[in-house]
Amino acid sequence: MSGGTMRAAVLHGQGDLRVEPRPVPTPTGRQVLVEVSHCGVCGTDLHMVLDGWGQPGSVGGHEWSGQVSAVGPEARRRFAPGDRVVGGPAPGCGQCPPCRDDRIALCEARATPGTEGGDGAFADYVCVDEQALVPVPAGLDLRIAALAEPLAVALHAVTRAAPEPGQRALVCGAGPIGALAILALRARGVDPADIRVSEPNPTRRQLAASLGVAEVVTPDQLDVPSIAEPRRLVADRVDVALECSGRASAMYAACAQLGPGGRLVLVGSGIESPRLDPNRILLNELVVTGAFEYDAGGIGEALDLLASGTLGRDVDTIVEPDDVDLDGLLGALEGLVAGKIAGKVLVQP
Ligand SMILES: [Zn+2]
Ligand SMILES: [Zn+2]
Repeated sequence: MSGGTMRAAVLHGQGDLRVEPRPVPTPTGRQVLVEVSHCGVCGTDLHMVLDGWGQPGSVGGHEWSGQVSAVGPEARRRFAPGDRVVGGPAPGCGQCPPCRDDRIALCEARATPGTEGGDGAFADYVCVDEQALVPVPAGLDLRIAALAEPLAVALHAVTRAAPEPGQRALVCGAGPIGALAILALRARGVDPADIRVSEPNPTRRQLAASLGVAEVVTPDQLDVPSIAEPRRLVADRVDVALECSGRASAMYAACAQLGPGGRLVLVGSGIESPRLDPNRILLNELVVTGAFEYDAGGIGEALDLLASGTLGRDVDTIVEPDDVDLDGLLGALEGLVAGKIAGKVLVQP
């Protein structure tokens, strides 16, 4: 409740995450205070905590669900205590060209990702602008609703890849986003028999294989033509490739798997520059593009897909069976980096 004390996982420095008491925020203006039910651990959180990208004093966690606990004086018309919600991105400026096109992730007024906004949901409570909240459909469990944010990312990546009926797809990197990308491709009509996956980690390969895709290979099993053979097409070529690992070598390899007119979508972020083959791109008229977050309405679409039940058991395959509490968060981050944990870890503060 507002006015009291809560627990939060506070970043103090690289690899130094401490669970500490913090005052429960009091929502002002259009803010809403949400009691966190579940918060997913994301690749971004790994970078922030273990790679030292995060600001000391910050609290991470952006893939969350919860129940409204208190509302600011100007937020009372849309939300009331007890409402079930998930968090989305802060609204864009509403004025710039991308905002006018509903592409709010591209808002020109946004700060660098990860440096904007207030504290995240690795805490008992999170306080956000009412416009960042999306209601959870009746009947959808709040634990599963916490997948809405990463599923929206995966669906947006498929939108950018724009596979046509009967086309083949490659997913590079079968971490949680890659695994959700498999579900998103299927939900958008790509036949599982037309989906290939490349992933170095055996635990993640096993997870991907259990999602019913045609083939799961290691990156070194991919046929990658050299820069001296820009016109040679590989036998197992695909029409779209979703690169979810953020590794430069995977970006290069994914580009080489495309047939004429193919599309490579960069979904995973990395700080190592890939060497893409310009002649291959030119001679085959390949499209290389990015997918960042999702458009307005992306979270709502993901929630509807989760609530529809069409994903079935595959959702449980992607989520790690045992949730962790705030004290277990650092261990989970380390387990993910070490490749010991393959699925989506949910924190239940
Ligand atoms: Zn995320
Ligand atoms: Zn804008």
